[in-house]
Amino acid sequence: MEYTLKKFFGYSTFRPYQKEIIEKILEGKDSLVVMATGSGKSLCYQVPPLIVNKTAVVISPLLSLMQDQVMALRQRGIKADHISSAQTDSRVQHIAASGQFDILYMTPEKACSISNNFWSNLLDKGISLLAVDEAHCISEWGHDFRVEYKQLGKLRGILPNVPFVGLTATATEKVRNDIMDSLEMRDACVTIGSFDRTNLFYGVKSFSRGVLFVDELVGEVSKCVATAGSTIIYCTTIKDVQQIFESLLKAGIKAGMYHGQMGNKAREESHRSFIRDEFDVMVATIAFGMGIDKPNIRYVIHYGCPKSLESYYQESGRCGRDGIASMCWLYYTKSDFVKADFYCAEASSVSQRTAIMQSFMAAQRYCMLTTCRRKFLLDYFGEKNTPDKCGTCDNCTTSRKESDMSREAFLLISSIRSCGNNWGLNMPIDVLRGSRSKKIVNAQFDKLPLHGLGKELSANWWKALGYQLISHGYLTETIRETFKIVSVSPKGLKFLSSSKPDDQPTLVLPVTS
Ligand code: ADP
Ligand code: ZN
Repeated sequence: MEYTLKKFFGYSTFRPYQKEIIEKILEGKDSLVVMATGSGKSLCYQVPPLIVNKTAVVISPLLSLMQDQVMALRQRGIKADHISSAQTDSRVQHIAASGQFDILYMTPEKACSISNNFWSNLLDKGISLLAVDEAHCISEWGHDFRVEYKQLGKLRGILPNVPFVGLTATATEKVRNDIMDSLEMRDACVTIGSFDRTNLFYGVKSFSRGVLFVDELVGEVSKCVATAGSTIIYCTTIKDVQQIFESLLKAGIKAGMYHGQMGNKAREESHRSFIRDEFDVMVATIAFGMGIDKPNIRYVIHYGCPKSLESYYQESGRCGRDGIASMCWLYYTKSDFVKADFYCAEASSVSQRTAIMQSFMAAQRYCMLTTCRRKFLLDYFGEKNTPDKCGTCDNCTTSRKESDMSREAFLLISSIRSCGNNWGLNMPIDVLRGSRSKKIVNAQFDKLPLHGLGKELSANWWKALGYQLISHGYLTETIRETFKIVSVSPKGLKFLSSSKPDDQPTLVLPVTS
C-alpha cells in the first residue's frame, strides 16, 4: 500500500483513516466514508484498483468534476477516463468494458442505463470497487437530493460481490442510514472522521440590505484580497450576485461570476479562470458547488442565511483546503428567515417539507448564536465531547457585554407557558407587550397577569432574547406541519419553578441589541 501511495501519488504516509478504509475495501467489505472536505477521501478509492489491478468504477455527479479528476490521474500515470450519457462515441465504453482502465468515472444516469452486457464484460475482467462520490445526494434527507442518485441501488443486483464505497463530507445519522439502505450495503464499515476544520475561523454578522452595506462588504473583501487571496462570495439570489459583482468591479477588484442563468460554457470558463487565479473573487449562487478543488481559498462569505447547516458547512468548507488559516463569514438579515416557503417549494411530501424547515431552522439558529459556533456545528453533526469554546470563532474571540436577564427571561418563558406552549415566539411576545389583537382577546390572553409587563422593550428585543433562550436550551423550537412552535423545555421549567419575578436565580446572557 505504501509503495503504491509513493509510486503514483508521491506521498510517504497515509492520512488518518485512509489506510484502514483501503484495507477494508481490499477485504471486500462495503464502506461508508464520512470525512471533511480536503481530508483525502478520493485516495481511498483510487489506491485499491492500483493494488489489485482491477478497474474501480466511480459514480460522480458532475461532468466537469470527472474531467478534472481524470486529468489529474493521468498526470500521475494512472489509466483513467469517464463515460457519460452525453458521449456519442462509444469507443471509451468498449475500452472500459475490457477492463483497461484503473479508474473509470461515470455519471449516475450512465451507470443505471448502461447495458448489462457492459457490466458482465467488465465483471469478467474484475471490478475492484464501486465508489459513489457525494453519496449524500442519494438521500431525500440530505441537502442536495438528486433523483438520478436514487436509482443507484439497482447496481447492487448487478454487482453483488463488488465492494461498494459511499463517500460524503456531510451526513447526519439519518442520511448515513439512508445511504447504506439505498445502496443495499451489507454490514458496511462506517468511518466518520472529525468534522472539525481546525484552520477555519467562523463568524457571523447581521446587516441591513442596501447600498451602504454592499460598500462595507466590498471594503472587507478588498482588504482580504490584498493580504490573502482567493475569495468566494455565496449569494442567495442571482440579483445579488450581479449587484455585488458589479460593485467589486467598480472598486477595481478582479472578480468573476457563476450562476444558473449563465450558459454552460460561460460557467465552465468562469470556474476555470477562478481555479487558475485569473481573478480573486468569485461571486456565485450555490450552483457553484461540488468539485471546487482549489487549495488556496482564504475567505468564504455567505451573503444571506443559507438553507441548511449541511450546505453551509460544505460551502464554507471550500476554503483552507491546504490547511492554512482561512475565514468563513456569514452575513444575514432577519428578512432571510422568511424564506422557508421558498425552500419548501422543492418538497414533494409533508415529511420532506418538515425536513427542509428543520434544516433551515438550524441555519437560523447558527446565525443567532451567542455561544461557540464551532461547537454548535460539531454538535449538529453528532461529534461527541466537543469543548465549549474553540477560541477561533467570533463568539469565542469577542467579549460581549453580559448582563443579568433573569427577570426578562422569566417573563418570556412564563408567557410561552401561559399561552399553552402552542405558538411561535410572536404570540407570547405580543402578550408581554400588551397587545389586544383579536387573536389575543379571543384566547383571553389579555387576562393573563403578565399581559403588558414587557411593554418597555421592543418586539425585536424580545425575539432576540427568545433565540438566545432557545440556544441555551431553556426553550425548544419544533415544527408542527409548517409552523414553528416554541415551548418551554425541562430546563426552562426548572428555571421557572425555582424563581418568582423578583426572586430568581441569575441568568446572565449577552446583551442583545
Ligand atoms: P476530499 O475528497 O476528502 O475533499 P481530496 O481527496 O480531494 O479530499 O484530497 C485533498 C487533498 O489532499 C488533495 O490535494 C490530495 O492529493 C491530498 N492528499 C490526500 N491524501 C494524502 C496523503 N496521504 N498525503 C498527502 N496529501 C494527501
Ligand atoms: Zn468558538
